[in-house]
Amino acid sequence: MAGLEVRDVVVRYGGTTAVDGVSLAVAPGEVVALLGPSGCGKSSLLRAVAGLEPLARGTVAYEGADLAGVPVHRRRFGLMFQDGQLFPHRDVGRNVAYGLETQPLSRAERDARVTELLTLVGLAGYERRAVPTLSGGEQQRVALARALAPRPRLLLLDEPLSALDRQLRERLANEVRAALVETGTTAVFVTHDHAEAAVVADRVAVMDRGRLLQVAAPDELRSAPASDRVAEFLGLRG
Ligand code: ADP
Repeated sequence: MAGLEVRDVVVRYGGTTAVDGVSLAVAPGEVVALLGPSGCGKSSLLRAVAGLEPLARGTVAYEGADLAGVPVHRRRFGLMFQDGQLFPHRDVGRNVAYGLETQPLSRAERDARVTELLTLVGLAGYERRAVPTLSGGEQQRVALARALAPRPRLLLLDEPLSALDRQLRERLANEVRAALVETGTTAVFVTHDHAEAAVVADRVAVMDRGRLLQVAAPDELRSAPASDRVAEFLGLRG
């Protein structure tokens, strides 16, 4: 297997150990959710994979190559956050095209790719719309289209739906799953919501206090939680 391989990773902030010896493999085309309560180290692990936080210990490798010393923009990973961080002064099409600007595409090819991605996220025809006129859900769809446009070899999503209301979150979780599967994108999806994790991911990695408690398919996690603590996170106890 040569997707993402995280081995024994430690992330520290001064005296705080945010990630405490995590090992996790994500196969090509697989979607893994990092699930756990606020402050358990999910974002720190994701940021370490992205190259945004230094490793105090351990390695991050992709396709068998150690990424130590490879800067964020050379990893060919995509990033998506809770606040989509769209450019408010660019229209929707130019936001999606942003990630394609460094690629050797003709204008026609770029426009075609933007149209393809907007169709994928259910926003066909939105090219000329101004960002401030979009709803929160639409903005996150545009952010997803922008993140997928350059065909990242790994997409890292940090609580991308957490700012949305519950009903919309459930619908969008299904849509995100569909977009990732359709594009065959390998992804790590951070969430504190177990229902969302189960919808989006092939496997769920349950995290607590900087460590992984269990990594399993959603069904397996529910039928055979490895500990009371895992069961508690899944709402099966207490
Ligand atoms: P999660 O994503 O699960 O909410 P984080 O990775 O954001 O967790 O945080 C893990 C721990 O690291 C927390 O105790 C948090 O306070 C701490 N932490 C996160 N970022 C920083 C930082 N930049 N400086 C100091 N401590 C941090």
